[in-house]
Amino acid sequence: MSKARNAKIALLNTGGTIGSVYDPSTDSLRPGLSVKQLLTSLPKGLGQVEVITREVMELDSANAQPHHWQEIAGAIKSVHDEVPDLDGIVITHGTDTMVYSASAVSFMVQDFGKPIVFTGAQIPLVTPWSDGPRNLLDAIRVAAFADLGETCIVFNGEIHRPTRTKKMRSDSYDAFDSVDPAPLGTLGRDVVLFERRTPRHNLVPRFDTRLDDRVFLLKVFPGLRPDIIPRIVDMGYHGIVIEGFGTGNIPSEENSLASGIKQAISQGCFVIVSSQCAFGQTNLSLYAVGRAALDVGAMSAYDMTSEATVVKLAWVLGHTRDPAKVREMMSTDYIGEMPLVGQEFAIDH
Ligand code: ASP
Repeated sequence: MSKARNAKIALLNTGGTIGSVYDPSTDSLRPGLSVKQLLTSLPKGLGQVEVITREVMELDSANAQPHHWQEIAGAIKSVHDEVPDLDGIVITHGTDTMVYSASAVSFMVQDFGKPIVFTGAQIPLVTPWSDGPRNLLDAIRVAAFADLGETCIVFNGEIHRPTRTKKMRSDSYDAFDSVDPAPLGTLGRDVVLFERRTPRHNLVPRFDTRLDDRVFLLKVFPGLRPDIIPRIVDMGYHGIVIEGFGTGNIPSEENSLASGIKQAISQGCFVIVSSQCAFGQTNLSLYAVGRAALDVGAMSAYDMTSEATVVKLAWVLGHTRDPAKVREMMSTDYIGEMPLVGQEFAIDH
């Protein structure tokens, strides 16, 4: 076991179960612990790790909105500007929408060169058997010492890339899974990091929080009435991610979605088809029911998760609404959100 060296990190608190307390007035949990209380609840202190603390918000992450993603990215920029010699940053956050917030930060803060680590808990830190102390200590360990230069989620002994992660379990300590490929690393006696992660580096960080929050996520199910699509466009949405079945298939006969998609696109709304499956890829050219979407101009999410597709589309539409540029940006791999693009995976045409 190597000897711990001095390190300096920032801890940003945004709420979530990890800092929640029981509220007798509602007989339920709500965020309530301050960032200082999070730290003092750790059983053995932090040795040589200096921690700079910031309160960012006190939210149950079910209440997080896209402007909160921008506020978190803004808080990262402020603390980085104030304390440039940080070794890394930890952000405590609710697990419900951690994947969205951490994915948004991944797009908004690129080339940071140090770990930006999201963590949280399934059980409040004030409960004796909480997973909070372990997750928080693991996150601090990664931020302080790991050779990692990207945004990640540290939870239950694993290090995940947010755009490749899904919340899979609502009760178990093992809330998150990396989906194709496996995690970026694991924590045990050593922090083990795999080859495909981005190591620490000294590029100049780029902060770009532009966002269009008018992106809709529509899950296809048997019986979905196609007139939902023009309604979504009429509500002012600029982009729709349609979560199709399997490889991105949509109904093309009874209750066909094809003409609604075509009309939405002709009105300047961008339509991307992703998959409801956690593992595998969208491949719209495989079946006639996928071609139906492709032929009327929908884009494919390729190997991106629906969560990453929603966040990326919001980020892309914050930069441009030029159709060729949107298409180009959506099929560009910025931060490892599309690990198969450019490899063996054939892109839909
Ligand atoms: N509802 C909580 C939240 O997302 C759940 C959690 O943190 O585990 O804030």
